[in-house]
Amino acid sequence: MPARTGAELLRGLKDDRQIWVGNEKVTDVVSHPAFSGAAKGLAAVFDLQWDASDDCLFPDPETGELINVSHMIPRSPEDVKRRHRGLRRIAEHTVGVMGRTPDYMNVTYAGFAGCAHEWAEYGNEAGAARQVEYQKYLRRNDICLTHTLIHPTIDKAKDEIPGQENDVILRKVCDTEHGIIVRGARILATLAPFADELAVYPARPLPDDGDKFAVSFCIPMATPGLKFLCRDSVAGTDNVFDHPLSSRFDEQDAFLIFDDVEVPRDRVFIDANVKVYNQTNTRSWHSNVMQQTMIRATTKLEFAWGLATALAEAINDKSAAAQQMLGELWCYAELARSAVQAAEDHCSEWGNGVWFPDGPPLMALKAMMPFWMPRANEIIKLLGSHNLLATPTWRMMRDPELRPFIDKYMHGANETSAERRIRLFRLAWDYAGTALASRVELYERFYLTSGARNQQRAQTLAKRDSALALVERFLTEPVD
Ligand SMILES: Cc1cc2nc3c(=O)[nH]c(=O)nc-3n(C[C@H](O)[C@H](O)[C@H](O)COP(=O)(O)OP(=O)(O)OC[C@H]3O[C@@H](n4cnc5c(N)ncnc54)[C@H](O)[C@@H]3O)c2cc1C
Repeated sequence: MPARTGAELLRGLKDDRQIWVGNEKVTDVVSHPAFSGAAKGLAAVFDLQWDASDDCLFPDPETGELINVSHMIPRSPEDVKRRHRGLRRIAEHTVGVMGRTPDYMNVTYAGFAGCAHEWAEYGNEAGAARQVEYQKYLRRNDICLTHTLIHPTIDKAKDEIPGQENDVILRKVCDTEHGIIVRGARILATLAPFADELAVYPARPLPDDGDKFAVSFCIPMATPGLKFLCRDSVAGTDNVFDHPLSSRFDEQDAFLIFDDVEVPRDRVFIDANVKVYNQTNTRSWHSNVMQQTMIRATTKLEFAWGLATALAEAINDKSAAAQQMLGELWCYAELARSAVQAAEDHCSEWGNGVWFPDGPPLMALKAMMPFWMPRANEIIKLLGSHNLLATPTWRMMRDPELRPFIDKYMHGANETSAERRIRLFRLAWDYAGTALASRVELYERFYLTSGARNQQRAQTLAKRDSALALVERFLTEPVD
């Protein structure tokens, strides 16, 4: 089957998945007010792949059918660049506000399949082979995946290294005739209501005796025993004037319970094998998936800079303070763009003839984004100040009694009409100030674990020889 359309995605979401939001269990995610806007927003991403097919689609190497380029297993520097074009188009569509458009997981699983040798170690040849078959299924059916990696936090001092007695963390309980039973909980599954299937794969390392926690698999969302507890909706109204972003980009996040879920054998990629579990995400995963998510983040920073620039122009703010903040935003966007380009320009082969970008520039960017993104929001609020709240709704705009006053009193500088100014400041508030903005800020701080953790890890992995050599000269030079 080739890449799907938005209508095909929405049809596929009508099943028996167990989704709770607010005070209710949801029977139809597509029509539920908490989800309908984002369901349509995600459907538009599926339609985009056909509207921009030159960038977004490429032929499946085995069937020749057109599939999303995020499923590509890059086999040359040209493939890495080709994939960039498609990822950038998707990021532009949501201006990076949807962090987990399906290309994130598509890129992840293309990498896992391409580097199956990393999964085939420590006796896991069969699991690795099943995963390669699964990736074919994923790309040929254009499956939308959500994923969950992190253990729920109960006691932060202990849970990062779970003991055998831990009965919260997701674990294997037993084998069955057709697969395995898993029980426990994980956080968070972003995109859960809108996904076709759920992926569980390794994240932080487990202790050496943690085999029972070391599982990896993919299963349909409606698998019996899966329960998804969504956070409160931050979706705005469906009016794109009033809520240009929150009307369509609330991708949701869910706490996930596995109540004795049976995973069929052909969907088990790691079966209680801590050695392979602990090594898979220390290998090619990072360099591969960071291309997708740092292209998204770069696009979002570029948007933030454009938005801030347009805000300042609308009120003719030429103050030194405004110019400096705009410059600061531009620096973030340009540094991000340069790091992604450097990583792609220095891509290399990772075995099996598979090519991924260079890791260190993306590692540095990943560690800084949790600080740059909240600062971008702060700058937009500082530039926008009270103007962010002087923004009548679409209905007020259409009111014949109010409209003449709005046009007279709410226009901007340099012939900026009231309507343009109001749209601009509404967009800025939805980006930096609304409930959606607050959730997205939290996402940027934590979705790849915290910036603090990433900075620590980055410097321990970095090659330090040449930096230390610069210092050493001064410590060892002769003193006469
Ligand atoms: C909106 C959102 C969506 C998410 N979506 C998903 C998803 O789809 N799938 C999924 O698997 N997970 C998801 N996650 C979880 C994500 O993967 C992170 O792992 C998780 O949020 C990190 O939480 P943590 O408590 O381990 O962070 P930590 O890294 O422990 O950070 C917690 C706090 O401690 C500080 N800190 C940590 N280490 C240090 C240190 N050494 N020194 C000083 N300070 C330190 C940090 O700065 C931070 O303030 C999501 C999270 C959010 C917020």
